[in-house]
Amino acid sequence: MNSLPGAKQQTILIVDDEPQNIHLLGQTLKDEYHILVATSGQQALDKMAAKPYPDLILLDVLMPDINGFDICKKVKNTPATRDIPIIFVTAKDSAADEKEGLEIGAVDFIAKPFNNAIVLARVRAHLSLQNQKSQIKHNEALLKATLEATKDGIAVFNTKGKLLLLNQNFIDMWHFPETVLKSQDKEQFLAYGLSQLVDGDARRPRIDLLWQSDNTESDLLKLKDGRIFSRYSEPLIQDDKKVGRVVSYTDISEQKKLETQLRELSLTDPLTGLYNRRKLNEILHDEVDRAKRYEHQIAVLMIDIDHFKAFNDSYGHDQGDRILKNMAQSMKKHFRNVDWCCRFGGEEFSVIMPDSDLPGALDAAERFRCLIAEMNCDGLHITISIGVSVLSHLSENELPEELISLADKALYSAKAQGRNQVQVYR
Ligand SMILES: [Mg+2]
Repeated sequence: MNSLPGAKQQTILIVDDEPQNIHLLGQTLKDEYHILVATSGQQALDKMAAKPYPDLILLDVLMPDINGFDICKKVKNTPATRDIPIIFVTAKDSAADEKEGLEIGAVDFIAKPFNNAIVLARVRAHLSLQNQKSQIKHNEALLKATLEATKDGIAVFNTKGKLLLLNQNFIDMWHFPETVLKSQDKEQFLAYGLSQLVDGDARRPRIDLLWQSDNTESDLLKLKDGRIFSRYSEPLIQDDKKVGRVVSYTDISEQKKLETQLRELSLTDPLTGLYNRRKLNEILHDEVDRAKRYEHQIAVLMIDIDHFKAFNDSYGHDQGDRILKNMAQSMKKHFRNVDWCCRFGGEEFSVIMPDSDLPGALDAAERFRCLIAEMNCDGLHITISIGVSVLSHLSENELPEELISLADKALYSAKAQGRNQVQVYR
């Protein structure tokens, strides 16, 4: 971005009430820069009133209408023109004058009569400096925009724990109080952040170790308000030296919710909305564990629709599906909230009944059998057979799945004895 001699990308405004001075300065600079001129203070202000603004101003001090110092003050007090460098070129060159000029915002002071080469050298130097400044500003703006363009909350601290940088998301995600933000102190951010976590106190020692190390770390944070953040922490290295640490947070609460929903979906039978066989196994293991721990009973029902193949052959699979759905609806209504209703596969269903002894399970099964026998689905009727087993049927080392086999055996015997009945494993 440095000005290239001859590139003429930049404009210099020369302000002087003596045409001879303007001419000399113009001659010196015209090969490298666009030249604008003003022969009075008022003309200069008019030229500064709107874009395009010059990149640098060479300003005379003594002029009949408006004094150069006053012009300088005006330019420096206007936000749009404040950053334009001003060099005084003047015969008013006492130390006090120079001091005043610099104090009101000029970048340099050149005494009249001036030396062409020095004017050119100073103009080049100040424009180059100006370019560097605007490049830095541009980079800062770019960095800021980039930081705000992410969904993550990001903060950067130096090795002494002073906040160097943060984005709005970081503040919004954590709802930091004003006092913490103002402190710019890692310790305060950390203390507040940990106070928001379910297990904040337990995390403290590990975080301290992490900050002392050069390690990168990512993990999950559970907040007291139920949100889940993933955290990524990495040392900030500049010129091979650790100068701080960057921490970024992503709110993954929605993602976690989706994962849970997806998991639920993978454990549900799409036709009936009941749990599927995979979930049945999970439930069975959990409930048998619990029943054993508290010395409770647990009952398992295996339910099968009688002659369902013949039903499908007569009325078609769509009608068959409607029967299965109605069955599922009836199961959900009939059994208790604590009971687990599952579709085992095809026309076979099972119910896991925690805290249910044999008489209780038999009663529930018998009532359900009657309910289904009376069910009217599109004017059609079905019957079911049910096999029942309870935990006390299992011997010490048998697996929970064995309860299903036992109920299945009972179901088989219900089928063998004429269907539309409930049988217990014996
Ligand atoms: Mg003058």
